[in-house]
Amino acid sequence: MGGVPTKHHSKSKVGRRRSQLALRKVNVVVCPTCKGPTLPHRICPNCGTYVKSGAKPKAAPSAK
Ligand SMILES: [Zn+2]
Repeated sequence: MGGVPTKHHSKSKVGRRRSQLALRKVNVVVCPTCKGPTLPHRICPNCGTYVKSGAKPKAAPSAK
């Protein structure tokens, strides 16, 4: 059984609430060091590498 609305919500009020519901696509980039998926402008969760935008990634220090 669904809930019973106590107050009428106008179309605009419902639309304003639902305007915040859309999910946005997450931009995923490839880590140059471990080739794993990571988020831009953040350190890699796998290997901890941070690549500045525009900077060329240096040779990876062999982390084992
Ligand atoms: Zn990485």
